[in-house]
Amino acid sequence: MSFDYQAAFTKALGAVHSEGRYRVFADLERVRGRFPAAVIHKDDGTTEEVTVWCSNDYLGMGQNEEVLDAMKAATDHVGAGAGGTRNIAGTTHYHVRLEEELASLHQKEAALLFTSGYIANEATLSTLAKLLPNCVILSDELNHASMIQGIKGGRCAKLIWRHNDVEHLEELLSALPVSQPKIVAFESVYSMDGDIAPIEEICRIAKKYGALTYLDEVHGVGLYGEHGGGVAERDGVLDMVDCIEGTLGKAIGVMGGYIAGSAELVDAVRSYASSFIFTTALSPVLVAGALKSVQLLKAGQDLRARHQDRAAKLKAALAEQGLPVMESESHIVPLMVGDPVHCKGISDRLLNDFGIYVQPINYPTVPKGTERLRFSPSPLHTDEHIAYLVHALDALWTECKLAREEQPAPQVVA
Ligand SMILES: *Cc1c(COP(=O)(O)O)cnc(C)c1O
Repeated sequence: MSFDYQAAFTKALGAVHSEGRYRVFADLERVRGRFPAAVIHKDDGTTEEVTVWCSNDYLGMGQNEEVLDAMKAATDHVGAGAGGTRNIAGTTHYHVRLEEELASLHQKEAALLFTSGYIANEATLSTLAKLLPNCVILSDELNHASMIQGIKGGRCAKLIWRHNDVEHLEELLSALPVSQPKIVAFESVYSMDGDIAPIEEICRIAKKYGALTYLDEVHGVGLYGEHGGGVAERDGVLDMVDCIEGTLGKAIGVMGGYIAGSAELVDAVRSYASSFIFTTALSPVLVAGALKSVQLLKAGQDLRARHQDRAAKLKAALAEQGLPVMESESHIVPLMVGDPVHCKGISDRLLNDFGIYVQPINYPTVPKGTERLRFSPSPLHTDEHIAYLVHALDALWTECKLAREEQPAPQVVA
């Protein structure tokens, strides 16, 4: 008898179901010009308008008129796709200009585009690990799946340091031979807790032991620093970071990923990374939109200021009702539920009874017992949006008899 493939898939799905982590996607149509509004298509075939509270289009740039105009102009000018890999006919002038713009944003010599931030991490870390003889990567324990995948792909030694624990990092580094190549890999803003890495401290220690620093600024780019160069720009430590990785899909509002670093590092990744070389280049339409978005965010502070203001306002409003908003130094506002069933249940009720869409965050994205709702307020969420959300949460918290806490209004670092 031949192998029963469907049964194997069903069994695998059964495991996901029984662990309560089967993912159901919300079928959305964002309403252009009315961010954060979207229309949701429900299972019964009906539609309903909702307010989106969990988008990573942090600033609404995905609907910015100038970004859309740049994309339309590019479509009219050069058509839909790049037409090839970067090496074979796929490098357009848009790609070249965006790479220059991103290098300048991070004050680096060069930058390189990838299909996504995930691929940028996976390709770069695996390539660096293979190019550096006997390399060891020191990875923060909460690093994103794409970095973990890159480290695995590099087949090098790996050491995990406790989250944002610089003493532990130093302990591990100091035990390694000085001459051995080392990469310290970490993120600026950790997107589930909203905490921020001590970048300067980490880089100082890394330099002391001769390690290369690799920083994922996916949740910082566009949002922090005078030009939107990320938390490293805000902290004035861009020159201490050897390789910065970012996405064009979150605050930039389009799609794609990149790294920025020294000319040699970037050229080496360009020359060796399989998932950069053997894939079609990003559509010039996407690249044109990202270029406009980066330029707009470089030029003006208004959206960044309003973004931080909205986050602070939401945190304060939640704390005022004793709702257990987690201490977050960033624009991310996690609300602890601490139970997977309630977390999913409250998210369902918000959607069905209040027209509020926030995806529940359950295990394995976060540890068991720390299930939460993760809100991402944007500059376009109004006072009324915030008041209505807090009203809905307040009602559901009472109804589900969930614990409240007294806590001072959290601080926001701009
Ligand atoms: C989303 C994310 C990525 C991947 O970026 P994409 O452009 O969405 O592929 C990488 N790192 C972190 C920390 C992320 O949250």
